[in-house]
Amino acid sequence: MQKLVLLLFLSVVALNVNAQFDKYFQPKTLRFDYYHCGNHQSESIFFDELIEEPHWGGSKVNLVDDNNYGSNYLKVYDLESNKLIFSRGYCTLFDEWQTVDEARQTNRCFPESVIMPFPRKSVRLELLSRNKKGVFEKKFEYTINPESYFIKKERPNWQVFDVAYSGDPAHKVDVVLLSEGYTADQYEQFKSDCAKFAEALFSYTPYKENRSKFNIRGVWAPSQESGVDIPGENQWRKTNLDASYYTFNSERYQMVTDFQKVRDMASCAPYDYIYILSNTQKYGGGAIYNFYGISAAGHKAEAGKIYVHEFGHLFLGLADEYVGGVEYNDFYPLNVEPWEPNLTTLVDFDKKWKNQLDPQTPVPTPATKENAEVLGVYEGGGYVAKGVYRPWMNCMMNNIHTTDKFCPVCVKAIQNMIDFQCK
Ligand SMILES: [Zn+2]
Repeated sequence: MQKLVLLLFLSVVALNVNAQFDKYFQPKTLRFDYYHCGNHQSESIFFDELIEEPHWGGSKVNLVDDNNYGSNYLKVYDLESNKLIFSRGYCTLFDEWQTVDEARQTNRCFPESVIMPFPRKSVRLELLSRNKKGVFEKKFEYTINPESYFIKKERPNWQVFDVAYSGDPAHKVDVVLLSEGYTADQYEQFKSDCAKFAEALFSYTPYKENRSKFNIRGVWAPSQESGVDIPGENQWRKTNLDASYYTFNSERYQMVTDFQKVRDMASCAPYDYIYILSNTQKYGGGAIYNFYGISAAGHKAEAGKIYVHEFGHLFLGLADEYVGGVEYNDFYPLNVEPWEPNLTTLVDFDKKWKNQLDPQTPVPTPATKENAEVLGVYEGGGYVAKGVYRPWMNCMMNNIHTTDKFCPVCVKAIQNMIDFQCK
């Protein structure tokens, strides 16, 4: 009897917890595809299409995202009451492109896409971007009637398998691994690469301690040819996602330009985060916050470390703590506090890891041998040697060849994001 009462009580609590979700949403996905266009100083958004997808892998409790991470924000309002019912921060390949030289010479469009749980009633979607001062401005709005017969329902049907399963997607971080550049006879190779991804992720603190909060699934979509594009070596391969090195003319920067293709493949599984395993041995990859990540599954020595580093970008927008290596201009303006948790320009350090610092630690902190694992404020990070500061001399978001640990600031931020996603 007592057990029954307890069960009833628990199910009432569960009902209340999801009440907001059930009031406004159905447990499947509405996807909004658009084109993100412009040049180094202008930005426009053009509507493409709406798509219904079968799963919703996200939290049903944390519908509004108050992390304030990302260069872009999706906001969804109930049309009738004007209440904010869903939001998510994210970044895009377009944002990065705006900081490269090509954006000063031409206009360009990138196919992009945002997702939300499928609304029951009409909603107003807003897309916002940060301006040069780091403040969000509305760039686009669109009213969606969920009953419109123009919402596309046909969808790909690739095979999905579990790599690591720990429970209901609503309360877990759901990672979907996509196959890129594997031919039909390389299924076993892909499965083995998926297992290596999980093994690598769960061998680093704090992922190790949170293993039971993750689901990892693989999507098997064989490509016509094996490998990926390497323009600088005149190597071109027919693959499903058209992944390529030399993105923005940086040899090791391997990316997929058409994010909508990526979403198509990912939609076969419930997911929060998309990571693409590309079937190549060449060092390189990339990842963008709440967008997607990709890297070489076949890299002999460091495929696992690269996954873990890139996943930090994808999962919570951790910044690169290293100096040099990319062709960006003014990626972190020195008069603005970056939104990334693991860098500071000291413009607003109070909002960063100041409260984690020993009060005796000098700011900035000298990079000496004795300080190797001392939390401090070390100059150099975010690709530049001056004016941007990092928390540790060397963390997994810095030089992966010479470390095996995340700094305490990254560890804390990762843990906070796991907790946010699992509510
Ligand atoms: Zn770090």
